[in-house]
Amino acid sequence: MNILLLGSGGRECAFAWKMSQSAQCSKLFIAPGNAGTSAYGKNVNINPNDFEAVKAFALKESIELLVVGPEEPLVNGIHDFFANDEALVGIPVIGPKKEGAILEGSKDFSKQFMERHGIPTAASKSFTNENLAEGLAYLQNHATPIVLKADGLAAGKGVLILDNVAEAQKELKLMLGGKFGNAGSTVVVEEFLTGIELSVFVLSDGKNYVILPEAKDYKRIGQGDTGLNTGGMGSVSPVPFANETFLAEIKRDIIQPTIDGLLKDNIDYTGFIFFGLIKVGDKPYVIEYNCRMGDPETESVIPRIESDLVELFKACADKKLDSYRLAISPKNAATVMIVAGGYPGDYEKGKAISGIDNLRNSFAFHAGTTLEGGQVKTNGGRVIAITSLQDDQFTALQCATADAGRIYFDGKYFREDIGFDLM
Ligand code: ATP
Repeated sequence: MNILLLGSGGRECAFAWKMSQSAQCSKLFIAPGNAGTSAYGKNVNINPNDFEAVKAFALKESIELLVVGPEEPLVNGIHDFFANDEALVGIPVIGPKKEGAILEGSKDFSKQFMERHGIPTAASKSFTNENLAEGLAYLQNHATPIVLKADGLAAGKGVLILDNVAEAQKELKLMLGGKFGNAGSTVVVEEFLTGIELSVFVLSDGKNYVILPEAKDYKRIGQGDTGLNTGGMGSVSPVPFANETFLAEIKRDIIQPTIDGLLKDNIDYTGFIFFGLIKVGDKPYVIEYNCRMGDPETESVIPRIESDLVELFKACADKKLDSYRLAISPKNAATVMIVAGGYPGDYEKGKAISGIDNLRNSFAFHAGTTLEGGQVKTNGGRVIAITSLQDDQFTALQCATADAGRIYFDGKYFREDIGFDLM
């Protein structure tokens, strides 16, 4: 089977690594990919948001499966584009159509969806410029802290947590005034939930689903989860506090009602659903939905999947996930993300990377890297994810952290405390 994978991060490197191990994978192309993905397939210089270019390539290389890594092409409708084009219509797409991707593309939609289907989430109310006065009055009596969320995609920056009412009122005006462009033309005002977060993933074929291993990611740049938010500095899977009872509750109260809700709303959802959850007391609540796998959670989740990933995707495309049994390793995965100095602020690219061959007990999933004349160089803020899979979590964390220390480039930084709060 000829497969085209869209994306260029650590998530896609983990997908490419796993898919390339399948006997069913004849040719694997990654668009645009990174220095790491080129070890598992052929990188092609195509922007995943240029649907016409993706189409031309898919036809030229007789692509039989399209796997979409990031959210943007999904929210922009790449699945719809494939389904509505006569020449592409038979090519299955892993990733939902626009009508499903809106679960991530519009926070206002996802809050209404959860309310409609009785899925536990923080209480909220949405405002636009038309009812700004009502929004300001609503905030006046709101408990603090207050969570403000731009409705649309804002590259992970559209959520503000504010300690007092005056600040929240000022920010609401700024957001509705265009601070996040169109993404903030509707703002969701949300109750702040106190608890510990985790991520749960499902692959849905529209009717049936399989639950993937859960994970926990670490968003802040600094040790002890302090400082600015990032795309993610590391992850672990499994999550020790997500015991069998809690996972069963998540399935009953969140996953099943979400799948049922999609069916009731006539949304045919083929692809990953990422449930960003928070455990408040002993109850799970949904913080957000994403329409794709998480990054860096994927780098911890994929190594724990023992099943053939291409077979899993085929079963999904054929709507046969009801009879699919996913084999999951009981081992523990830990991922440490190595980032460029300055990230998540300004950082430089083009630094030569060495030491990748020196890893002892981990593997490297490349993220922001590129190959220049045989030399791997940095090409983004998050550079390489180091994942270790071991019998116990402490060893996995120790190995991934030690191996992250074996990689070198000018300005390199990583957190040395990923996962140790869970010990
Ligand atoms: P991501 O970058 O993860 O896609 P996002 O911009 O889509 O994030 P959310 O996931 O909704 O936005 O929120 C980002 C983070 O803000 C959450 O991971 C969580 O830490 C915090 N957060 C969001 N909503 C709440 C809430 N209601 N209570 C407490 N914390 C919250």
